[in-house]
Amino acid sequence: MSFGGIEAGGTHWNCAIGAGGAQPARVATFPTTTPAETIARAVEFFAAEPELEALGVGLFGPVEVRRDSPRWGTILTTPKPGWEGTDVAGALAAALKVPIALDTDVNAAALGEWRHGAARGLETFVYVTVGTGIGGGVFANGRPVHGLLHPEVGHMMVPHDRTRDPFAGSCPFHGDCLEGLASGTAMRARWGRPGEEVTDPEAWELEAEYLALGLANVVLVLAAERIVLGGGVGRAPGLIERVRARLPEVLAGYVDADPLRDMATYLVPPALGPHSGVIGALELARSCRRAENRTI
Ligand code: ZN
Repeated sequence: MSFGGIEAGGTHWNCAIGAGGAQPARVATFPTTTPAETIARAVEFFAAEPELEALGVGLFGPVEVRRDSPRWGTILTTPKPGWEGTDVAGALAAALKVPIALDTDVNAAALGEWRHGAARGLETFVYVTVGTGIGGGVFANGRPVHGLLHPEVGHMMVPHDRTRDPFAGSCPFHGDCLEGLASGTAMRARWGRPGEEVTDPEAWELEAEYLALGLANVVLVLAAERIVLGGGVGRAPGLIERVRARLPEVLAGYVDADPLRDMATYLVPPALGPHSGVIGALELARSCRRAENRTI
C-alpha cells in the first residue's frame, strides 16, 4: 500500500511515492516540458509502483480545483506555452486508474507545512513561494482556500515607485503586479542576469521592499497567524532578514497582535525546505483515500 504525490510545478515536476509522513520512499524530478512528455514521465514513474492506492497532485495554475466542475484538474489561462487547456488530472487518471486528489502546487506546499512543517497547529496561515513566479497557498480556519478558483497571491497589486524602479514589470497580464516586480523572472529582466548572480545590496533592498508590501497585504487581508516564505528567490541569503526588518515598518503598528512582535517566528522559511510541495501532494493522496468518493 502506498501513495503517490506530484508537485507539478511550471518549471519542474517532483514525483514521490510514500506511505505518508515527511519522508517519501522514492522521489524523481524532471523538467516541465510539453504536456504530453511531462505527463508521460510521471505515468512511467508511478506505473512501476504495483500497490499505488491514490495520487495527490499539486498543480501549477491557474487551475480548476472545484471537484464538481467539468474542467476539474485542467490548466486555465497560463502563459506557459502548450499547457493552457490541458486536462492534467484526466490524463493521469486515465493512465494510472487510481483515485486522484488535486489542489494548486502552493496549496499542496501549504498542506505539507501544515501537517509536517512550519505551520503545524495553525488555523490561518499563508505559504508564499518566490521563484520563477510568485504564488501563495492560503489556509483559513484549517482548510485550504479555493473560492472562485484559488487565491492568486502573486498577482496582487503593490505600490510601484517608478522613480526608484523604472522597470515596467514582467507579468504578461498585469505588468507591475507583485510577480511582475519581484519574481525571479522580474529580477532577471530588470538586472539582466539571474537573481543568484545579483549581488548589489540595493537590488535586494528593492526585492525586500516589494515582498514586504505584498506580505503586508497578506497580513491585512487574511489575518495570517504566520507566513512561510519559500522558493528559490525566497531562500536567497539575507532576503528573509531584510523582509522581516521592513514588514513591521510597512504595517506601522496598526495590527496589534502578539505573533507580529517577533518577526523571526512570524515570517519563517519552510521547515520542509524545497520538499513542502511533494510532501503536501502525498498528504492530498492520503486525504483522497480517506474520502473514498473522489474516484473519477
Ligand atoms: Zn500579474
